Amino acid sequence: MERVKIKVSGMVQGVGFRPFVYRLAHRYGLVGWVQNDAAGIQAEIEGRPENLTGFLADLKAQAPPQAVIMKLLAETVAPKDERGFYIKKSQTTDGRTALVLPDIATCPDCQQELGQAGDRRFRYPFTNCTNCGPRYSIIQDLPYDRAATTMSVFRMCPSCQAEYNDPRDRRFHAQPNACPVCGPAYQLLTASGQAVEGEAFAEARKRIAQGAILAVKGLGGYHLVCNAADQAAVAELRERKGRVDKPFAVMFGDLGTARLHCTVSDAEETLLSGAIRPIVLLAKNPQYGLAQAVAPGNPTLGAMLPYAPVHWILLEAGDAYVMTSGNVSDEPIAYEDQEAQGRLAGLVDYFLIHNRPIHSRVDDSVARIAHNKPFLLRRGRGVAPAPIQLAQAGPPVLACGGEVKNTFCLTKGTAAFMSAHIGDLENVAALASYTGQISHYQALFAIQPEFVAHDLHPDYLSTKYAQTLDLPLLAIQHHHAHIASVLAEHGLNEKVIGVAFDGTGYGTDGLLWGSEFMLADCQDFIRMAHSRYFALPGGMKAIQEPWRQAAWLLQELYGDGFAELPIPFCRQLPDNWPFILQAAAKGINSPLACGAGRLFDMAAAILGIRCRVHYEGQAAVELESAAAGATGWLLPYHITGGPVAELDFRPAFAALVQAVQRGENPAGLAAAFHMTLAAATVDMIRRIHHMTGIRKVAFSGGVFQNMTLLGLILERLDHPLTPLLNRQVPANDGGLALGQAAVARERSKQHVSCNTGQNHSP
Ligand code: ZN
Ligand code: ZN
Ligand code: FE
Repeated sequence: MERVKIKVSGMVQGVGFRPFVYRLAHRYGLVGWVQNDAAGIQAEIEGRPENLTGFLADLKAQAPPQAVIMKLLAETVAPKDERGFYIKKSQTTDGRTALVLPDIATCPDCQQELGQAGDRRFRYPFTNCTNCGPRYSIIQDLPYDRAATTMSVFRMCPSCQAEYNDPRDRRFHAQPNACPVCGPAYQLLTASGQAVEGEAFAEARKRIAQGAILAVKGLGGYHLVCNAADQAAVAELRERKGRVDKPFAVMFGDLGTARLHCTVSDAEETLLSGAIRPIVLLAKNPQYGLAQAVAPGNPTLGAMLPYAPVHWILLEAGDAYVMTSGNVSDEPIAYEDQEAQGRLAGLVDYFLIHNRPIHSRVDDSVARIAHNKPFLLRRGRGVAPAPIQLAQAGPPVLACGGEVKNTFCLTKGTAAFMSAHIGDLENVAALASYTGQISHYQALFAIQPEFVAHDLHPDYLSTKYAQTLDLPLLAIQHHHAHIASVLAEHGLNEKVIGVAFDGTGYGTDGLLWGSEFMLADCQDFIRMAHSRYFALPGGMKAIQEPWRQAAWLLQELYGDGFAELPIPFCRQLPDNWPFILQAAAKGINSPLACGAGRLFDMAAAILGIRCRVHYEGQAAVELESAAAGATGWLLPYHITGGPVAELDFRPAFAALVQAVQRGENPAGLAAAFHMTLAAATVDMIRRIHHMTGIRKVAFSGGVFQNMTLLGLILERLDHPLTPLLNRQVPANDGGLALGQAAVARERSKQHVSCNTGQNHSP
């Protein structure tokens, strides 16, 4: 007989790991015990050496699907000649070092039960087991026990309790275990709160087929739902929600239906049907046949598959439902019943709701496949609050994030806990959610931050929030944080060439940066180059109305006579353009900006693709879409020297104007614009490489969600240059907090001697 002591760390709690060990030990005729501890799982196993070997091999190979084994240690100890195998009570000396799992999509076993007539959970919308179901969204406190979740109000019936107590059952210690006898239930209500007669799901389906809009309470919040093939219903939803043409996500009843409308690669299929089940951006295929209003002017569709029992019951194969966050325009997703029913009453015809409270709101995650790898574009359900592993331990910090697409980050040891997507802080509801979630995370993970990192922008609400905390503050430049987010993900802290392209971010000179080439590590950065500054006539208004930026540019190129240029853009200028440009010339509300996103705005306006936007990045999305399939060519640009080099794209824009005059088609011109920006970017990277010898190039910022641009850059980035990209956090401002945290931890080392938090530009 031999005995081994085993320690497993990683995501091994709340995933059915102990019953798995129990069953495995029985299979090999071994004795001993297993238990949860602060770091994960411990076990002692005793038996014949050949059985122990088999057991250890299977422990890794057959671990439960949601388990992530980060470390497995096994050491031989003295045999104790025990009888039988048992599960020991958890050691909860410090339950808070255990990880909180994200919500997990319904597993195949539970899915099977849902569809099995006669099963006691047939069509029961709260079916779950140790391998699947809600976690983070229902957890109020740790350790993760039913009493500390929103399931505490439901008392398990004897059948459920028996499953819960039986280590051989796949519901052993499944905290949200429930059935129709004892668990929560759905009901269908009219907008004014009257119960609808009949079976809730059948009635809901009928209403959706008739063109109704429903609010459906799910796992992490409410969705607004209607038939995606029904143009009138989708248009009505846009009208009520006040959302002009920003794309809606669609849930397909099954993969086959998704394939009818979109192309789905193997990697995309894996992502769509995995445990996270994010919204995946798919290319529409030529047979795409959903309502035009679902994703107008967009070559891609945000698609997802059912991930909770409610969806498996509500949708059938062949269905395609719009499934968008239940909110008014850009407010955070509604999740509290009273609040939601108040806020959404004017938007929907019916409510399909249930009586289990959602403790934490979690919006759907968004991801895409590029170069065969998944990239997260929004962290939410299925992902948060699983930590990102940092290369080194450091002091606990709170990084407050940015202003739009906000997330925050709390660190502890080597773990960085990124919050789920919160949204744009400028609205009151989002700000309230922000402060509430920060408190919840701090309590849940027992983190007392010693430093607070925030954006350099003095007016961001996240900055103002940081200033209310009585802690040492570290102000981090926006684009430095973008680059540091890449370094943190890759566990690097060395100087790299950082390329941060986005819309705007506050620079150390008070101007709006956003086409940044820098030498950066986690400590500091040196600005090496950027594109030329332009005025934003009317400030934020110029971002909503790209024609203002383009008019400023053309006036710079051609003088006041530009308005007579024989191109459609000039014929469509509003009458007040001279006043707007005059005000800008006097510097009235016209900040200087060099965001790469602004170059896309100007190109889209000049090519007549878009002069006014309804959502962030729309002009760039449509310009990229216009370029699809076209072959571009290189337009001229200049690089001017100086301590900080400048990329001047005015010659490229002049060439675009001439080409429009010649009547060349916008697709080729849009492609030429992408190619030119890519070539100039790589040109600049090479210059910096020649000056410094640095080979690693980190790309971040919202502009790199443009896969055409990124692809063209990566194609040209040859040996010895190596690209580094964001994958676990978004390249847009949703990933900013991770970079802020990385810089803050590095700077905190020097905090005693230098606590200004200022960057140094040459
Ligand atoms: Zn399950
Ligand atoms: Zn029950
Ligand atoms: Fe940004």
